[in-house]
Amino acid sequence: MPELPEVETTRRGIAPHLVGYRIEKVVARVPALRWPIPPALPRLLRGREILAVTRRAKYLLVESEPGALLLHLGMSGSLRVLPRDTPLRPHDHVDFQLDSGRLLRFNDPRRFGCVLWQPVGQVHELLADLGPEPLAPGFDGDHLWRVSRGRSAPVKHFLMDQRIVVGVGNIYAAEALFSAGVHPAREAGRVSRGRYERLAIEVRRILEHSITRGGTTLREFTGADGAPGYFEHELNVYDRKGLPCKVCGTRIRAADWGQRQTCYCPRCQR
Ligand SMILES: [Zn+2]
Repeated sequence: MPELPEVETTRRGIAPHLVGYRIEKVVARVPALRWPIPPALPRLLRGREILAVTRRAKYLLVESEPGALLLHLGMSGSLRVLPRDTPLRPHDHVDFQLDSGRLLRFNDPRRFGCVLWQPVGQVHELLADLGPEPLAPGFDGDHLWRVSRGRSAPVKHFLMDQRIVVGVGNIYAAEALFSAGVHPAREAGRVSRGRYERLAIEVRRILEHSITRGGTTLREFTGADGAPGYFEHELNVYDRKGLPCKVCGTRIRAADWGQRQTCYCPRCQR
């Protein structure tokens, strides 16, 4: 599943080919992905200049005067900018034809992605209750410490809760907790302010590093330029069950809390 760094990498990849150009035509070959594609989209976007391409959590917003096209890659979606005469491949569901002679093409084999509309001045309900961006100034150890008081949920679940902070997926949560030395099952309300400061720094560092490397290891991810995503060789705990900890040599453990597997070092993380 594309994670925040992949989405940000996609944004940076496609934005220069979109901003300042006009959308001439929208071609939707399916009526719905995860949700129905608004039938008014072709009319709303026709002739509109793209003013900016921004990101909120894992949503991309292609902004124009009447509103923003809201895109989510779901489990298997990808966006590419291509010459307009590029032959269709399976699962090429939506095209946005530009006056540059290119098009933005949304491909999504599993159709868990979305193509929606957010009128100008409104916040789409999918974006309404989201916590701060992990790379923006509103996110720090103080924020985590304040909103965690009285919470008994494991700190890893807490960190992956989109209302607390957006875009910290399983890989990044596991790695940040390891780097900060925090045991993933510790109650969120019982982690000290100092350790949250360290954790916030690690979350940022790991996400930023991953963005500069083009995203982590997603087998299904295809970069905006069509090249395969990077494979991340620097993971410390994620997917390393039974292997020796790179710091202390103890075998990495895996536990299933909730539906996701969590890998951690029982010695380095307390
Ligand atoms: Zn260790």
